Amino acid sequence: MDTRTGTPDGPAPRRRLLPAVQAALLVGLLSASSVGAGDAAVESGAAARASRVEAGEPWLDRSVVGKVHSQVLVAFKVAMELVTQSPSCNALFSELGADGAATLLASRYAAATKSCRPGAVAVTAVGQSGTWLCPGFVRLTSDEAAVILLHEALHFAGQTERPLDPAGPSALEINSRVRKACRT
Ligand SMILES: [Zn+2]
Repeated sequence: MDTRTGTPDGPAPRRRLLPAVQAALLVGLLSASSVGAGDAAVESGAAARASRVEAGEPWLDRSVVGKVHSQVLVAFKVAMELVTQSPSCNALFSELGADGAATLLASRYAAATKSCRPGAVAVTAVGQSGTWLCPGFVRLTSDEAAVILLHEALHFAGQTERPLDPAGPSALEINSRVRKACRT
């Protein structure tokens, strides 16, 4: 999610990234990873991963601490319940060729600070598992935070966003889709 706004449009064109867009997203990812993701890409051991996934718990980088940590735990639980109990919620993911719960469980959460623009609460590059949680994330309600985790997981699943994808939905439109489909 970010602070960009726009006008409503039709179904989002997917898998339509231009090279320049991909490059811009990659730059965003790299700049985000330089401010705190650290060794987030390494999850210790296949057994640990399997038990985490089985328990339905989020993949958290060690940078996620304090209020952000507790917020993610609660919001992730809400998001998992929504996507597993609501077919219309999971359909947001299946339209992208993905499964909602599996996408959430494969998402990797890390704390971001300097890479967040004013007003942004989380950042995820399209097609990438890493989600950077901005300081504003802790000020959301649990339900709002769950919407954001679903929004970010949709980016992981391939959902583009305006203006990087001029034909894509805005961040606010993605949030609206999530709220409507998942009935939050
Ligand atoms: Zn977004």
